[in-house]
Amino acid sequence: MRQPIRWVQTNLRENDAAVDPKRFVDEIAAFDGNALLMAMGGISSFYPSSVRYHYVSPYIPKDHDAFGEVLKAAHARGIRIVGRFDFSKTHKDAYDAHPEWFFKKADGQPAIYNGLYQACVNGGWYREKAPEILREALEKYDVDGLFFNMFSNPTADYSGHPLGICHCDNCKRLFRARFHRDLPEKPDADYRAFLHDATVTMSEAIRQIIKEKRPNAALVGTSPEIADMVFSESNTAVKRPLPLWPYASSDNVNRARNTYPQKMAINQCMSFVDYAWRFAMVPAPEIRTRLWQDVANGGAAAINVHGTLEQADRTALETARPIFRWLKEHEQYYVGQYPEARVLLLGGGNRGFGAEPAYRGMFRMLSQEHIPFGVVDDTKWIGTRDVDLVVATGSVPQELEQYVRQGGHLLIASSIAPPMDMGRVVKRWQDPDGAYFRIRDKSIFPSLKNTDVAFMYGDYLQVDAKGPLTFIPPSMYGPPEFVHVDWKDTDFPGLIIKQFGKGTIAWLPWNLGMLYYYHSSEAHAALIHDLIDRLLPGGRQLKTNAHPMVNITLMKQGDHHLVHLVNITGHSETAYFNPVPVSNVQIHVKGAFREAKAVRSGKELAVARANGYSSFTVPELGEYELVELR
Ligand SMILES: [Zn+2]
Repeated sequence: MRQPIRWVQTNLRENDAAVDPKRFVDEIAAFDGNALLMAMGGISSFYPSSVRYHYVSPYIPKDHDAFGEVLKAAHARGIRIVGRFDFSKTHKDAYDAHPEWFFKKADGQPAIYNGLYQACVNGGWYREKAPEILREALEKYDVDGLFFNMFSNPTADYSGHPLGICHCDNCKRLFRARFHRDLPEKPDADYRAFLHDATVTMSEAIRQIIKEKRPNAALVGTSPEIADMVFSESNTAVKRPLPLWPYASSDNVNRARNTYPQKMAINQCMSFVDYAWRFAMVPAPEIRTRLWQDVANGGAAAINVHGTLEQADRTALETARPIFRWLKEHEQYYVGQYPEARVLLLGGGNRGFGAEPAYRGMFRMLSQEHIPFGVVDDTKWIGTRDVDLVVATGSVPQELEQYVRQGGHLLIASSIAPPMDMGRVVKRWQDPDGAYFRIRDKSIFPSLKNTDVAFMYGDYLQVDAKGPLTFIPPSMYGPPEFVHVDWKDTDFPGLIIKQFGKGTIAWLPWNLGMLYYYHSSEAHAALIHDLIDRLLPGGRQLKTNAHPMVNITLMKQGDHHLVHLVNITGHSETAYFNPVPVSNVQIHVKGAFREAKAVRSGKELAVARANGYSSFTVPELGEYELVELR
């Protein structure tokens, strides 16, 4: 939080232990990386370890210490080193001596992957050997941080084969002691709590060892509530369902910095296309947009390659190199940034890929509307942060009622009834083909003056209340001669607006976010546009004529304000191309500023002040611009 981070992760293979330490560190320095995440131990140790069963890479040259020599050379050049451990698996000798330490499948067999045995988070490899290994490592090396890969029990192996849940004696015994029953066949709520708590206990034990041995070293890559840095990845996968998520880095870093504002966010650009093809790179403009989105949301610039910097495809590194150089030359801007957004979007902690279309639809809409917003996974901000509006797309926590009563506003687009009294639910309509909402009250929706109906699909909760949108149930949609001739308007509300104390709740009892994610209906975007303006009586924090595909963030750094613009107009279908330059981007930011400087293009911008806003124009936006306001 006090020094800017330009992070390089090299996932070394065990044969890379033969790397020339000086040359390797020279390459990281030439790349302008100032933090190196490097293999240390666990599956293969990159230093001579004397802990029994801790396998040492046979590729370390005789009388050498790959990790120790890199650490020394890196520190001499001011590069921080984060050691990487993977305790998820180890070698057969440990299994043969202590089978009780390891994951046991339902059929009683161990989980073996490429000759390595999966450990159980409740077993002795994690609970006894990992602390012993860490104590040795931390006593020997003055590391700046430790990172843990694949922490806890996985649900599938690297090839995606499901492993089920662990049936080892420790898991059986501990689960029975807590829940008084046998392990379930598939993970249920009890089992998820069981595994979550085991992971947290283990993370805390590791944290304690680190803080005892090296108090200044950071813990990275366990549960975000315990780690010192919140770690995530922007990645692709060949078999993942489409569409691509062009906001991957903004999403991860925004969420980390707004949920854990006092922790640094490391969101790594995974440069390869998938785990099975780690030497083939994603398109260069995709790598660039991820890095700009990382820093535009107040995170570190972070990139990952597999192996040393000598890559079979140099695209990723050669693409990131000039960005790292520029970030170094302007590093005073990329440290100590805090989000200024006064609108929050509830994330709910649901990070499953493709599992959260309603959230992503709303995220995209807010970004396209250029509303500065923060993603939060909890409600800890209540009472500590000035928030004008909260947007929810799933279930709504009860404690938000208190926030609303004290003058906050809440916009809910969800077919899960909120816990506040918004009216009695009469019926749930499921996937009604041909259903619509009629826009009854145009005074609330000025953007929809030419639109009388908006389509609706998915779940709709019919509530005993009145509202400015009303439901038109399914009717005939074929043959053309019959289309909707039997339309029957109802007064069932598609939007309920209610005052609670000094605040307002507006509830769309259907999945508008999900519909927008898949179909991008302009009518749905207009509904949100007008509702947000209604719920922000003091006006938006930022107004602009920017193209919807310019992702704008508003950050505070000391007493300056930073407006970041990431141009993602180059994203199309499954491709990322160079963005189309955007001209004359007018921006109005609430507040009285005297100076605006476009840092990337090196131009001073004229500032005009009126009606509580300071206005300036970015004459030409390439891929990225940073405007400093004073
Ligand atoms: Zn187990």
